[in-house]
Amino acid sequence: MCKGTITENDVIPLLRKLIQFNTENPPGRTIEAVKFIANILKSGGIKCEIQEYKEGHANLIAEYGEGEKSIILTGHIDTVISGDKKRWTYPPLGGEEHDGHIYGRGSTDMKGAVAAFIALLFALKKEKVKLNKKIVVLITSDEESLMEGSIDALERGIMDNCDFLLVGEPTELNIGMAEKGMCWVKVIVHGIASHGSRPELGVNAIEAASKLFSKLKKIIPLTKHSLLDHSTINISTIKGGTPFVVPEYCEFDIDYRLPPNIDDNKVRSMFEETISQFNRKNKAKVELEYIFTVPAIEYNEQSNFITSLKEKALKMGGGKKIGLAYGTDAGILIPPKNTPFVIFGPGRMDKLHVTDEFIEKKVVISYSNILLEALIDCYLQEFRETD
Ligand SMILES: [Zn+2]
Repeated sequence: MCKGTITENDVIPLLRKLIQFNTENPPGRTIEAVKFIANILKSGGIKCEIQEYKEGHANLIAEYGEGEKSIILTGHIDTVISGDKKRWTYPPLGGEEHDGHIYGRGSTDMKGAVAAFIALLFALKKEKVKLNKKIVVLITSDEESLMEGSIDALERGIMDNCDFLLVGEPTELNIGMAEKGMCWVKVIVHGIASHGSRPELGVNAIEAASKLFSKLKKIIPLTKHSLLDHSTINISTIKGGTPFVVPEYCEFDIDYRLPPNIDDNKVRSMFEETISQFNRKNKAKVELEYIFTVPAIEYNEQSNFITSLKEKALKMGGGKKIGLAYGTDAGILIPPKNTPFVIFGPGRMDKLHVTDEFIEKKVVISYSNILLEALIDCYLQEFRETD
């Protein structure tokens, strides 16, 4: 057993510092925060590389140990925007501590886990723990937009030798084994304009759009998944029309979320069939544009690492098997090789993206130690006392 557990001092000051870097997305600039982490790692003798895939937007890849195969721990460093700062009790970029909680944008989602990963690398190094896998920490950017960070890391081959991926998104120390997929679709409706007093001469694109949305909504299958309930669809934006004119144009965005037991290809062909039927029967003409897709994922196999995390998390009030309704970088990183994974992180799921976001200090510290102990339990090759 590792005698040098991770203490408050190893992880909390780092978390507070990370919150003070503005990595709000948009614009999603992360290079300063990433360079800061890289400097800490390098000065502590841990190998790392910055990959700036777009000006100001960067991933960081840090490695500990040897081995052909890797265990990857991943988390994103960008955050959603803070919104109206006046609504926050404590400044969103302050990283202030009050009553055992660290406040600030990104504290839960997910600089807490990122700080824990860094503390973990240092603990492994300090204790000279030799594992039979290489531990890779992948810190991504743009998870809060179109996941360009994880897409870039994937293209550079990060998953090629990965045996297991842990995503530190907030799960309240529960064991996330499934995640819904997401598809963002733009629907464009062309009608015919006429004077507002003579609607019979035109084709109203907004009316057609509303009729069409009701049809699309019915397509989404409501079959239940054991961890993720059922699919959902949401109309998120709509544009079109000017006063006193029968609108000739309307576009709206929808996103639908499917659990892993629903085939997205089937949903897509039903969408397309509905659109062609609609175009045949109506004067309005409709086009569909798929903007962004993240597949649903699920992992159901036995894994010693997950069992070990679960045992330890149970003692801390977590450890339940759950599914996540929201998408994470795992949706990008897992599917190409069907890599075993778990989504396991500190932080409450009701503190995601909210004003007065905070994370409990003691949960971040426990989380760091659970990771350290589970890695040692499952992958220890040799352990030398430091004296
Ligand atoms: Zn997140």
